[in-house]
Amino acid sequence: MSWWRDLPAHEPFGLATLPYAVADLPGGPRVVSRIADHAVDLTALARESGRVSGAKPADTNAEGANAEGANARGTNARGTNAGFPGASWDHPSLVPFLDQGPTAWADARAWLQQILSSAHHDESVARSLIPLSSLSLRLPFEVADYVDFYASEHHATNVGRIFRPGSDPLTPNWKHLPIGYHGRSGTIVVSGTDIVRPCGQRKGPADPTPVFGPSIRLDIECELGFVVGGGSRLGEPVPLGATWDHIFGVVLLNDWSARDIQAWEYVPLGPFLGKSFATTISAWVVPMAALEAAHVALPGQDPAPLPYLAGDAAYGLDIDCQVEWNGSVVSRPRYREMYWSPAQMLAHLSVNGASIRSGDLFGSGTISGPEKETRGCFLELTWSGAEPVTLDDGSTRTFLEDGDTIVLRATAPGPDGHVIGLGDCGGRILPAVPAC
Ligand code: CA
Repeated sequence: MSWWRDLPAHEPFGLATLPYAVADLPGGPRVVSRIADHAVDLTALARESGRVSGAKPADTNAEGANAEGANARGTNARGTNAGFPGASWDHPSLVPFLDQGPTAWADARAWLQQILSSAHHDESVARSLIPLSSLSLRLPFEVADYVDFYASEHHATNVGRIFRPGSDPLTPNWKHLPIGYHGRSGTIVVSGTDIVRPCGQRKGPADPTPVFGPSIRLDIECELGFVVGGGSRLGEPVPLGATWDHIFGVVLLNDWSARDIQAWEYVPLGPFLGKSFATTISAWVVPMAALEAAHVALPGQDPAPLPYLAGDAAYGLDIDCQVEWNGSVVSRPRYREMYWSPAQMLAHLSVNGASIRSGDLFGSGTISGPEKETRGCFLELTWSGAEPVTLDDGSTRTFLEDGDTIVLRATAPGPDGHVIGLGDCGGRILPAVPAC
């Protein structure tokens, strides 16, 4: 019955991962977790185990919670329901849970790990499991503000060479601040959503005037997306040392990009319609607490960043990604080579006093390494279309064709040799609307 305690270490969704999503369930959509190929109805489990918001803890207390995360934050999951998010899970969004902050997140994770690890709760757990194959997952939270960064030196260098040949590939500001732009939160969709090919203006080098029509250089960008929980006051920056208290978790993110529209429109104010038509994120949000064994030093920052961007919080993450194009793996980007830390990105985006709030999302920017096979977008991988890639079925591609499917996947090292999985991030391209 307790198969969830006997999972192999290489299972990416074992007890060391425990991500969150929102699923359509009988009684209404609500927050779930995941073990292997099953969802855990957290509301049902909290009720079954006697651990619901506002109620006295039952047997969880007698056994003592494994509160490693909670203890590290100076709290203890035993003997208190303060901050326990049972009620916030019975909601069609993660935002009420995100609002509760890092102590409640740690408390919830410690509780869930303890329940799943104890034979005492086997019947309750078994009753709260639902096969994922029978569920539909929603966008896990209403995306508040969305910022996309540009934190890979290899990506920025390659794009600079392609878009601005003859100039320095990195702009003079690039190594002094994490460059980003505010994107369109309302067009962020959950994995599995079809993407309609966008229309717009483009003007190739040989075109005397711009033309209008479906994009003919539709691309992807393999990124991580960081999910913000808790708010800050307008006018008060979030210091670097406090950033991780606001970074709840991580998703895979595909920043669909129409390179022809982008190339014509982006000077001087940056990305606009070439990016805003759709961005896909995983249905599963993996809490940062699952990635503690994946912390790595940044590859090295020279020149040293200004003091507000410097400190111990500025670390990277050891996450291996892969890009599948119609089922063929065409690239394996490595997140650990990113130049700027997620903590530096969040400190920078609020340093002018811009407030943050639960549901904010910031993307890392395309993850690219120095080798061709680690480039995280097709603009780089095919060098602007000059070097087509060959898929497993023998067909070749430069940019996306109608009907193509992209899936991003990723794993990270977990504790004691376990593997931590991130949620898949997939989407299929549909033809442009006829009006194009
Ligand atoms: Ca991007």
